[in-house]
Amino acid sequence: MGAGAYICGDETALIESLEGKRGTPRVKPPYPVNMGYLGKPTSANNVETFAAVAAIIEHGASWFKAMGTAESTGTRLLSISGDCSAPGIYEIAWGITLADVLAKAGARDPWAVQVSGPSGDCVSVEKDGQRAIALEDLSCNGSFMIFDRSRDLLDIVSQFMQFFVNESCGICVPCRSGNVDLFKKINRVIDGKACQKDLDEVVVWGKLVRKTSRCGLGGTSPKPILTTLQNFPELYAAKLVKQAGPLLPSFDLEESRRGYREAIAMLNDRRTVS
Ligand code: SF4
Repeated sequence: MGAGAYICGDETALIESLEGKRGTPRVKPPYPVNMGYLGKPTSANNVETFAAVAAIIEHGASWFKAMGTAESTGTRLLSISGDCSAPGIYEIAWGITLADVLAKAGARDPWAVQVSGPSGDCVSVEKDGQRAIALEDLSCNGSFMIFDRSRDLLDIVSQFMQFFVNESCGICVPCRSGNVDLFKKINRVIDGKACQKDLDEVVVWGKLVRKTSRCGLGGTSPKPILTTLQNFPELYAAKLVKQAGPLLPSFDLEESRRGYREAIAMLNDRRTVS
C-alpha cells in the first residue's frame, strides 16, 4: 500500500495507490468523504485518531477536552529522535513547552529541533524553548528531531531538500522544479559560492513553491530552508561571498561553455571522418 512513498501520506495519493494506480494526489475538491476509494465516500484517518476516538467513546468528550489547549484538545503522540538519551514514542498533552519535551527525552545540549519532520519548522531551542506545542503556537504533526551543537544544520537542510526532490511525484512544476532549485541553492551556500542575491531568491522561490503546489508536500517542502534562514541567519551569513560584477559568484563561465566546446569538437570529428 503506497509502496513506501512519502507522498502516499496524502490521503488521495494513498487512495490512488489502493486502486492500483500510481500514488499521486488528486485535485480537491471532491474530497474523499464525498468521493474516495473507487468513487465511494471514504474516511481516511491515521491509527492515532482511531485510537483517540475509542478512548473518547469510553471516557467522554469532556474528559478528552480537559487535556490540552483551547485549539488543540487532548493528547498527541510524539516520535522523538536525535541527540537525546531517551528517544522513543511519547504521549503528551498539547500545550507542553518545547523545553519540557526536551527535558523528558534527556536532550544533550540541544541547539535546534526539527518539529514535524522534514516538512516542518526548524526552531532554535534558545529562542523557542518556552513555546507551547499546540496549534495556537508551535504546531506539530508528531515528529521531533533533536540536534545538538555538533550537528551541521546546513548539511541537514541539504539532505531534507534532497529527500523532497526524490519524493516529489512530479505532477506540478513548482514542486518538481522548485525543490531542485532550492536544493542547488543550499548546496551553493555550503560550497561558499552563494551571495545575498541567492538567499533573496531562496525566500521568493520558497514562498512560490509553497503557495502554488498542488498538495502538502510542495506546500511544506521549502520549510527547512526557510525556517533555518529565519532562525539561524548567522549560519548562512558566515558562508556568503560578495558579488563582484553582474555575474553570480556561482557562475562558472568555463563550465557553462563545456557543452558548446564538446559539440563543436564532435562536429569537427565528423567532418574529418567524411
Ligand atoms: S506538490 Fe509535489 S508531490 Fe504534491 S502533487 Fe505537486 S508535484 Fe506531486
